[in-house]
Amino acid sequence: MSDEENGIEKLPGVGPATADKLRDAGYTTMMSIAVESPKSLAELCDIGEAVAIKVIAAAKKEADVGGFETGDVVLERRQKIGKLTTCSKALDSLMGGGFESQAITELFGEFGSGKTQIAHQCAVSVQMKEKDGGLDGDVVMIDTENTFRPERIAQMAEALDLNVKDILSRIHVARAYNSHHQMLLAEKARDIAEDHDVKLLIVDSLTSHFRAEYVGRGTLADRQQKLNKHMHDLLRFGDINNAVVIVTNQVSAKPDAFFGDPTRPIGGHIVGHTATFRLYLRKSKAGKRIVRLIDSPNLPEAEAVVLIDEKGVRD
Ligand code: ADP
Ligand code: MG
Repeated sequence: MSDEENGIEKLPGVGPATADKLRDAGYTTMMSIAVESPKSLAELCDIGEAVAIKVIAAAKKEADVGGFETGDVVLERRQKIGKLTTCSKALDSLMGGGFESQAITELFGEFGSGKTQIAHQCAVSVQMKEKDGGLDGDVVMIDTENTFRPERIAQMAEALDLNVKDILSRIHVARAYNSHHQMLLAEKARDIAEDHDVKLLIVDSLTSHFRAEYVGRGTLADRQQKLNKHMHDLLRFGDINNAVVIVTNQVSAKPDAFFGDPTRPIGGHIVGHTATFRLYLRKSKAGKRIVRLIDSPNLPEAEAVVLIDEKGVRD
């Protein structure tokens, strides 16, 4: 347990019992409490709302909420941004040279559109040397749908003449059984990054558990808040480790009540606002996929065609 976690007991109005409730509900750090709403905290931890307000106010004082930095420091960090090859020149150039580190790239599209395939391909390519378009780093993968396939990684590694065993040994995979577990694993990724040079964090799928667990209108605000925190944890991971972050988000072609038209983020689509790059994937003929870049901060909206075959992602 970290010092910060121990500190929860020291918050006014928080005894050992409340501290346990907080931790059981996933509030293991000051920050997680500080950014929560009193209503959610009260409901999820089974404490009074008045107590929740007090606890949050105290946590805000204790939490390391970050601070301001000068432009030259931001510039220095941005100059280190890496670009990861996807093994498709067309897709790389759509992204201005590859998937950027210190940013979240969201792959969204229907079932079977190739989200997991692109994520697998990047888990291989990130391990290549920089001169070959990689970032020479390890991978953390949070797998929520049990779709990680080492056999597929092996196939892709062989196609690039890479040592399969070495490649697999640098991919750290965990199954997430629910959204709460998923969020904890994202925090745990920081521990792995202390021992390994992690250059890619994948959450596949980002939204499936949230979508399944938060059903009905009344739960929307709560879900958004959780997703928002999760996304910010991921972004912070990318910043601190100068890593690429890839998340996937399955959308149906039919508009659904919460996520709406897949190409137009509406209805409080928090993911679309926090992801730096959004790529919309559609199936085309003969293994081809059309990838559309949407809402990029500095790149034009455009499309690329990629091929997914036994080698992996190609032009
Ligand atoms: P999703 O967007 O749902 O994550 P996937 O990335 O799992 O979709 O894409 C699945 C598709 O990828 C399959 O329908 C198939 O077209 C292609 N694919 C998966 N594995 C292979 C392979 N070994 N060789 C060729 N194509 C494959
Ligand atoms: Mg998938």
